[in-house]
Amino acid sequence: MSENAPPVIVWFRQDLRLLDNPALDAAANMQQPILPVYVLDDESAGDRRSGEASRWWLHQSLESLNASLDGALLCFKGNAQEIIPRLAKNTGADAVFWNRRYEPWCISRDKVIKSELQQAKISVRSFNGSLLFEPWNVTKADGSPYKVFTPYFRKGCLQNSPEPRRPLPVPEGYELYRERGGEVPGDLDLMPSINWYEGIAERWTPGEEAALQRLDSFLETTLNEYADGRDRPDLPLTSRLSPHLHFGEVSPNTVWHAAKKCADSVTEENLDRFLVELGWREFSYALLYYFPSMVTENLQKKFDRFPWRQDEADLERWQRGTTGYPMVDAGMRELWQTGYMHNRVRMITGSFLVKNLMLDWRAGERWFWDTLVDADQANNIAGWQWVAGSGADAAPYFRIFNPVSQGRKFDPDGEYVRRYVPELAGLPKKYIHAPWEAPANVLDDAGVSLGDNYPGPMVDIKPSRERALAAFKSISGQ
Ligand code: FAD
Repeated sequence: MSENAPPVIVWFRQDLRLLDNPALDAAANMQQPILPVYVLDDESAGDRRSGEASRWWLHQSLESLNASLDGALLCFKGNAQEIIPRLAKNTGADAVFWNRRYEPWCISRDKVIKSELQQAKISVRSFNGSLLFEPWNVTKADGSPYKVFTPYFRKGCLQNSPEPRRPLPVPEGYELYRERGGEVPGDLDLMPSINWYEGIAERWTPGEEAALQRLDSFLETTLNEYADGRDRPDLPLTSRLSPHLHFGEVSPNTVWHAAKKCADSVTEENLDRFLVELGWREFSYALLYYFPSMVTENLQKKFDRFPWRQDEADLERWQRGTTGYPMVDAGMRELWQTGYMHNRVRMITGSFLVKNLMLDWRAGERWFWDTLVDADQANNIAGWQWVAGSGADAAPYFRIFNPVSQGRKFDPDGEYVRRYVPELAGLPKKYIHAPWEAPANVLDDAGVSLGDNYPGPMVDIKPSRERALAAFKSISGQ
């Protein structure tokens, strides 16, 4: 490394790791000191600024990254469009590298920053650090985007695309450039002033090291039960990698290749099912890239005519987990207490909101955005539009999840409900998913008083289902 070489800025974004970080790797190859930077850019994000649970995670994750970078991570709060070019100018940096993001607000902001830096004769390079397949590389033969998952994944990704890049090692031997004038992660005010996050802190350990440990332990202990186990919210049989993937503490490439290495020790069905789920993440990102308006608009236009109800009180009962349907309430309380909800239960609670309550999917999406530690614009919007039936390759609207039968099937002993709805814990499993069916003496013995310490059902399943189907018919012209 030549003395007085100008620094290369590595702008960390949703790639809060050293392993398999293409921007960091490329910068390390420049033989120049590296200035690692993070910008909390709520200004450009606007109403898409990270929700409260995500901010808790981000704080811990930045602390962990800063420790891995020997305390050299320079943090800023403000508009990246001003901060990054100014920093490059002030430090004499001749290059700025980052890994791409795909949210519409990031794409438009990054374009402006790129052109501004280029005008100032500063080299800019962006890399793929978050996806297995770039959206623009996976299209149908005529160049148009896939809208159906199976051909997207099986044909577009697996058959017609090169195998995802193998993970890059942690770069070595580079010098860190230490600059003053920024803040440390602790100064970004990401931590909530009120300690409502105890349950979240008990459940999760953010950061690259914890992400890699989570991956290893999942592959060793549960991958081989994944295909069936992934639908059981009462059992810890999914990877719980989603927040780590969202913040880029582990790359999808690391996960993909580590899982494939297990091919000799797990069944093909289990491995394939897990890779398929990683594929859904890719599909969601591709949809967001090609259809950025899906952030606020229905992908299927006929849903623009859907007669959503407006009812703040009903929305609040759903948010608080007091609907009177144990499976829905358990899910909403799991979310509130731990910042996470099992995928099966995301579908059940989502279906209940948009179908049985007929409230707009955007209200549900917002609540998830604020409360999930894995809140991710692509996955959340695609997930909600899938549940609502308004998305690409979505669940047909007429497929309405029954929270009672779903509970009996996927939480057969009622353990999930007992964990999150303790007031029902004494009920025998026969009644735990439908307490109103229990005889009075059973309720008494369990200490359950419906309408008193646990609510009765806020809507009846059958008529609310019929109301939803009639509304759907009205927009379908059937
Ligand atoms: P695993 O089952 O172990 O899957 C491994 C990884 O694959 C996950 O970490 C995730 O990155 C990806 N994945 C799994 N299922 C899906 C899926 N259906 N769609 C996209 N990617 C998937 N996921 C988020 O990461 N952020 C969100 O904000 C989000 N919101 C959702 C909202 C709704 C209404 C629904 C139905 C799903 C949503 N999902 C979201 C997808 C899914 O529920 C979570 O990714 C999953 O529950 C995370 O748990 P896990 O890491 O144990 O998953």
